[in-house]
Amino acid sequence: MSLPIVALVGPPNAGKSTLFNKIIGEMKAVTSDVAGTTRDRQYAPTGWNGAAFELVDTAGLEADAASELEASVHKQIEVAAKEAQVIVMVVDGKLPPDSLDRQVLLKFRKSKQPVVLAINKLDSPKNLEALTASFLKLGLKAVFPVSSVTGRGIGDMLDHIVSVLPTAEQEETRDKRQETGSIGVAIVGKPNVGKSSIFNQILKDERVVVSNVPGTTRTAIDSDVTINGTDYTFIDTAGLKKKAARQAQPDVFSSYQTYKSIRRSDVCFFVVDATEEVTSQDQSVAQEIISQEKGCIVLVNKIDLYDAGQQKKKTVAEPSREKLQAYISHHFPFLWMCPVFFVSGKTGEGLSEAIAAINKIDASRKQIVNPEALKDLLARRKKQNPPKRLMDQKEPKVYSLAQVETNPPKFELLVNHTPAIQENFRKSVENAIIKELNFWGTPIKVRLVKKV
Ligand code: GDP
Repeated sequence: MSLPIVALVGPPNAGKSTLFNKIIGEMKAVTSDVAGTTRDRQYAPTGWNGAAFELVDTAGLEADAASELEASVHKQIEVAAKEAQVIVMVVDGKLPPDSLDRQVLLKFRKSKQPVVLAINKLDSPKNLEALTASFLKLGLKAVFPVSSVTGRGIGDMLDHIVSVLPTAEQEETRDKRQETGSIGVAIVGKPNVGKSSIFNQILKDERVVVSNVPGTTRTAIDSDVTINGTDYTFIDTAGLKKKAARQAQPDVFSSYQTYKSIRRSDVCFFVVDATEEVTSQDQSVAQEIISQEKGCIVLVNKIDLYDAGQQKKKTVAEPSREKLQAYISHHFPFLWMCPVFFVSGKTGEGLSEAIAAINKIDASRKQIVNPEALKDLLARRKKQNPPKRLMDQKEPKVYSLAQVETNPPKFELLVNHTPAIQENFRKSVENAIIKELNFWGTPIKVRLVKKV
């Protein structure tokens, strides 16, 4: 399912980020448990009264200088108007009625999507009616006085938002994939690492049969290809083709596109540039793949240039592939279970091996483990790394381990009391499953469940 997008727009300091965090609430705290990082997300799936949507904060588009305020708000509106199904304009309710944001608002309300106005920072319910009326006079219909700090008024506003949401459109391609069993592959990475070159190089191979290219139908944004008898759906390849359009996208939406492509995939080609240093942008794409529990293959691209000693910034002293491998492992420790290939979008080197790895990862994600093997594994874990009693907690007891899902693989550890089990023990079971039971190139999840 593709979720409808609700975008928050508004001038700096109106409190968009606070409102965003308040709405997604606890979701945010659990979104990133990879390598101890906390990321400031600007988009998150969320929901209200059973209706799901993606909330997007456009704060990343803000300009610092006050003189650029109008331009920056316009930019947000433009982007939001293209992407979102509902727009929430956030304004500071403590500012005088003639401040610039009201003027911006006047232009804004002509948007084709439903527009909801959140008059923010109204922590105490005084004079709300008069204030609301002054906004209603501007021609807006849905006006909500809210406080992002206390949460006051937000429930009413969300009630309204979900009432105007379009019913979530079915993602045809996803459904089709489930029917045909093709493997969803997203090619992701920061700009200019060579994603388009890799995709186009794959298509050049004579063994590749393309059955559906972007542009053949209006809705086709994916490419179905058959390679050596296996069907793959490369996700959002329109984005890989229309390069100019894609580069014009502001950051928050290009990272949002990446996030969406990852979500629709089974396995990702995570592309990095061998001739450049690894940056935090590379790391956050990789973390997104792992936190969404997708299979991952690292493609270290432009290896032709690297081998020829043409590094933009020397990552490692000499062009040795061994050193490059170590450099990559060092920067992506949380991808320890993922294969790394040196490839070239220009010469095609390494790409058929990378495609073969997709099949292997797909098989490992779909495998059903023998319950006896899980029993043995758990017994060994308990012996080698027995869960220790935590302060002020009950004596930990771990009863059994069972697989509950495939693709992505999920397991449950049955225990006496979940807070009594150290995270370190749970993690060690997770790692042991990957290492000992042939889960290759994919994260897996082990969840603690209390025995009743
Ligand atoms: P994208 O933004 O990730 O899709 O990157 P592109 O595929 O557009 O590639 C960015 C630039 O790197 C282009 O100028 C490509 O020609 C170049 N490039 C991509 N892959 C390779 C490669 O493997 N070797 C060499 N020499 N150049 C490459």
